Amino acid sequence: MKDAATRLAINEAALADLIAANHILYDQAVLDGFGHVSLRHPDDPESFLIARSMAPALVTPADIMRIGLDGIPREANAPRPYLERFVHAEIYRARPDVSSVVHCHSPALLPFTVSQVSLRPVYHMAGFLVPDVPVFEIRDGFGPATDTLVRNAEQGAALAACLGNRTAVLMRGHGATVVGSALRQAVFRAVYTEANARVQLDALRLGEPNYLTTEEGLAAAATNDGQIDRDWALWHKRLSRPTA
Ligand code: MN
Repeated sequence: MKDAATRLAINEAALADLIAANHILYDQAVLDGFGHVSLRHPDDPESFLIARSMAPALVTPADIMRIGLDGIPREANAPRPYLERFVHAEIYRARPDVSSVVHCHSPALLPFTVSQVSLRPVYHMAGFLVPDVPVFEIRDGFGPATDTLVRNAEQGAALAACLGNRTAVLMRGHGATVVGSALRQAVFRAVYTEANARVQLDALRLGEPNYLTTEEGLAAAATNDGQIDRDWALWHKRLSRPTA
């Protein structure tokens, strides 16, 4: 841990949280072998920290790399980065308030990326989803023959524009990207975005759901933002792999 923290110019506690975030998001079924979580560098907002291209559950401190907002790794002889690092780079460029980004393909979200039903908060734990969750349609700017991955800065900038000032954006036929002003908040939001999708899918089977109002969502989000460490402690305790 110490060597990696020195290499990345970050304190060990922050690096340990990033490792834990990788493992928690797998344990909570937000990530599988794919998807990723990043942290804007605390001392250099023009770069961010993210694992090399690998399964998040297996990430160790030695696997974390530093990437500039141009998508280029900062270290010589860097390992292979994630193809979709431009999701992170362009959101950090567009959103100075964002310090952490989660990109996932979690299964309950996918129906909302390919249907006319919008993902909306059905309960207080997902209040941060107000006022709405847009769906990024990569065909609009990049034609009908992409692999749906955000592979370059131009595609990343289009995704960031679709996200706007919101907390989450769905990606048609692909997945979602969720942001936070801190790492633990982004993890919290990613977990509850997926949980909300499951509940909303169940509610839709019964009829038209009674969604939270924007005011209720904002109030619930403010309440929950003060309690994120409660979930973090629980989720962290479930991990079997060491994070430090
Ligand atoms: Mn992806």
